[in-house]
Amino acid sequence: MTTSDMSFSESGDDTLAERARDRLWMHFTRHSVYEDGAGHVPIIVRGEGARVWDDQGKSYLDGLAGLFTVQAGHGRREIAEAMAKQAEQLAFFPLWSYAHPTAIELAERLADIAPADINRTFFTSGGGEAVESAWKLAKQYYKITGKPTKHKVISRNVAYHGTPQGALSITGIPAAKTAFEPLVPGGIKVPNTNFYRATAHADDIEAYGRWAADRIAEAIEFEGPDSVAAVFLEPVQNSGGCFPPPPGYLQRVREICDEYDVLLVADETICAMGRIGDYFAMNRYGVQPDIITFAKGLTSGYSPMGAMMVHDRLFEPFKSGTTTFLHGYTWGGHPVSAAAALANLDIFEREGLNAHVQANEGAFRATLEKLLDLPIVGDVRGAGFFYGIELVKDKATKETFNDAEAERLLRGFLSKALFDAGLYCRADDRGDPVIQLAPPLVIGQSEFDEIEQILRSVLTEGMALL
Ligand code: PLP
Repeated sequence: MTTSDMSFSESGDDTLAERARDRLWMHFTRHSVYEDGAGHVPIIVRGEGARVWDDQGKSYLDGLAGLFTVQAGHGRREIAEAMAKQAEQLAFFPLWSYAHPTAIELAERLADIAPADINRTFFTSGGGEAVESAWKLAKQYYKITGKPTKHKVISRNVAYHGTPQGALSITGIPAAKTAFEPLVPGGIKVPNTNFYRATAHADDIEAYGRWAADRIAEAIEFEGPDSVAAVFLEPVQNSGGCFPPPPGYLQRVREICDEYDVLLVADETICAMGRIGDYFAMNRYGVQPDIITFAKGLTSGYSPMGAMMVHDRLFEPFKSGTTTFLHGYTWGGHPVSAAAALANLDIFEREGLNAHVQANEGAFRATLEKLLDLPIVGDVRGAGFFYGIELVKDKATKETFNDAEAERLLRGFLSKALFDAGLYCRADDRGDPVIQLAPPLVIGQSEFDEIEQILRSVLTEGMALL
């Protein structure tokens, strides 16, 4: 289930909702919930700080920063003004053998804040395109540096990496893929770092992390090191409910990648730009990637933009002769989006948003952990301002819900009840059922408390349905 499966029926004036139902094709949405008259499409019309308002004037705490995007909060006039100024001066020009000052300045600023030796930026329109670009670059890089058979990608179970057919092949959610098979060949899956449901070393997180990382080495050996180009992973995996890396895990993955000459791609589509308390989560974890893909928070969602940043050595072969990365997007490096990103970075610096997350992440965790006294809350996990709350049927055995219960509790009740109670967030069962939280980075204790209280009252009500 995603938030988009929700149905709403209380709206007094449903004109916009009806128009949405009749003309929009909403993403990842089960449209039947609107077609049969049982529900209304929720319509959000305005945002300010960490709050959004619907077309009936009701306000909601934005517990998901839009879709993991609105880091600096809604309604930031200075980002809007920077975009307007850029649109007036130069609304559009492509980065296809030309450049414009805003993209140049943004690429320079990103090089300053990225991990060491990651200095080159290839702009895209979003995260999926960045993932797609990274796989294509990995394949071409090995073709032109004498290892032409390296092409496969190792990624992790339940991980979401986007919808283009390459990115979907890297994605580890079977239900999101079956309708579109056959996908790009060469997407190989390994375990993620879901310690709550560890099948090995469940009493020792470091040993578990080592075990999980070593599954990557095993997969490379099994597939043949000459066939594997890259490992793609999120520093903290979103899908499945916020799996942080166990201590030592990312370091061990780095070692494995070095041993087999495989590129380490950090898909930071969600994790970058403060979500984990640094511009890039890999900085926070102290591990050097070869490529970073990111999007969402780069502009705080004010305009679409993604990017792939690469290690200097990956660009080296493209510096000479006729070698060209024959790949690009019309909107890559869009001037207005680049202006939004620069204004967003100004806010990050001036308001110290990364430091704010680091200073408050402990309080956010502690506040959410209060929910562990509810029998339905099995686990609270995450990092920075990025948390998943796993719901279970039986806390002692960690038994999860069967399909009928999940349908009744999660689809039928939870998302709508949370929204009705004034909290926009995401109830997700792409893995085990979780509530995902990724609020704007500007919130503090009073909003943490509000989130906890709404969750407590709605989950308590939900338990009665079981
Ligand atoms: N990679 C990760 C880790 C994501 O979370 C997402 C989207 O949520 C994507 C890729 C795809 O990004 P987009 O929807 O911008 O294409």
